[in-house]
Amino acid sequence: MRYRFCRPDGRIIHLFEETEPVLNEMGKVVFYQGATRDITEMVSTEQRYQAVVENAVEAIISINDKGIVQSLNRAAERLFQYSVDEVLGRNVSMLMPEEEAGKHDQYLQHYLDTREAHIIGVGREVEARRKDGATFPAFLSVNKLEVGGEVSFTGLLRDISEQKEAETSLILAKNEAERANRAKSEFLSSMSHELRTPLNAVLGFAQMLEFNPDEPLTPTQQESVNLIKRGGNHLLTLVNEVLELAKIEAGRLDLSMETVDLIATIEECAVIANATATDRGIHLTNAVEDVTLPKVRADITRLKQVLLNLLSNAVKYNRDAGHITIDAAKIENDFVRISVTDTGIGLSEREKKKIFEPFERLGKQTEDIEGTGIGLTITKQLIEMMDGDMGFESELGEGSVFWIELPISYDVERDHSNRQKSDVTQSYVGSIGNPDSHYDILYVEDNKANAQLMVKVFDSIPNATLSVVSDARSGIQYAKDNHPHLIMMDINLPGMNGVEATKVLQRNKGTSHIPVIAISASIWRARNGIAEDVEFFEYVEKPFDLTEIRDIVDAALKSKEA
Ligand code: ADP
Repeated sequence: MRYRFCRPDGRIIHLFEETEPVLNEMGKVVFYQGATRDITEMVSTEQRYQAVVENAVEAIISINDKGIVQSLNRAAERLFQYSVDEVLGRNVSMLMPEEEAGKHDQYLQHYLDTREAHIIGVGREVEARRKDGATFPAFLSVNKLEVGGEVSFTGLLRDISEQKEAETSLILAKNEAERANRAKSEFLSSMSHELRTPLNAVLGFAQMLEFNPDEPLTPTQQESVNLIKRGGNHLLTLVNEVLELAKIEAGRLDLSMETVDLIATIEECAVIANATATDRGIHLTNAVEDVTLPKVRADITRLKQVLLNLLSNAVKYNRDAGHITIDAAKIENDFVRISVTDTGIGLSEREKKKIFEPFERLGKQTEDIEGTGIGLTITKQLIEMMDGDMGFESELGEGSVFWIELPISYDVERDHSNRQKSDVTQSYVGSIGNPDSHYDILYVEDNKANAQLMVKVFDSIPNATLSVVSDARSGIQYAKDNHPHLIMMDINLPGMNGVEATKVLQRNKGTSHIPVIAISASIWRARNGIAEDVEFFEYVEKPFDLTEIRDIVDAALKSKEA
């Protein structure tokens, strides 16, 4: 029995008295013997514990092994809007929505059957229900207590509605940002596509004017043509880069990773860059010529694009008669670092912060230098897609070092770095295919300017005749009637498109053997829209380069004869 006494000094003490009867041989109580203990310390610990539970921020509810509530603190009252009396002695499932209550009963039953507890000490998210029926998400952690063979469970419950709302709005915001980004990329992609078609005509006809042997240009006309070409090419670069950035951002750029011999690749890029460097008296040193370097894993075309961009910047932003050094070395963590050092205008601290942002052209000095401000943005993204890294150091007025790091490749099987370079040194005018044969070539194209341009290209080829039709059905009919040696097929045709038309031709016995070259303002779009059962000899992107188109046509004709 417990007693509470007040001492003369006012202090309260708690005593615990235990007595037992002592019996004689007749079984009669002779006297009581017992002991009294001072349990003041224990009681105050108990009270402190009770106060902690009562005032805890988290809701604390205890139940027995039948699910009957034995105690709950004030936070639980507030959270569930019930008073203690309304809950004590009732099943805890009243604090849960129906579905959750069912699960809880099963859980307890499972525990009683097997004594296996699954959520104890782990914690999980649950749905809880208030007195007014409203439900809310909560985080529940449960502890088991076993006293004198009796099992009880204490649950700590935290309302996580706000956290959940924040999570949901974060997900919504992320989805929205992704959607907007996709829409932007699609817009950029279709805009670039629309710009390429007229550009094709501008650049193509400028080239035609230049190469027309019957009407050579006067020096003034040549100068104007040069300006048209320069403006057109700048616009083309811009369109291509915007399109490329849009593709990267939309996650639509595929890389073809292989083992790359850096020495050969750097040499190739240095030779190209050297031509423009020499024009300005800039001396380019290739420091990797005589060293041994491990091979790296990269997409070779993209790597060349990156190196050419760094080298072309090193030329553009250099001073006349300056220096450029391209160097490479193995660094730690199985990477190779390639660096391009220049003695150019360098970057200020402010400029350094913005250098990888798209469309940022920095400093007054760059105003007269041609550029788009997208090159480095693309370069960095490409390098990161290749599992590499990129950075720079720069001193205003002194020069800059731009470096890239790529992982070493230990894969010797897929070494394509020594593949044959194609011979693209054909002259602009002259026969194609076998000079002794005559070829009939069909071009299916609805755009008049493109058609006219191609007619002009073929005017300079003595052993080929070009016929042009402006829609897919006429193209199919022409092919069935005349069996041309080669078909060039625009993809974006009105009505039936070029892919469908090619499918028809390749299913037809009489025309299935004719090679078809796909011509499209967007190779990427063309490739993506193409079904597996259609095969193109090659894809040519508009605006097409006259020499490139000649080479492809030539290769297609030769491949048929081989
Ligand atoms: P672009 O050269 O087409 O303008 P980039 O994205 O390649 O675009 O470069 C962005 C800007 O960074 C450039 O406009 C130039 O101001 C600055 N920059 C790039 N490379 C160098 C360099 N080697 N030295 C000084 N400034 C540079």
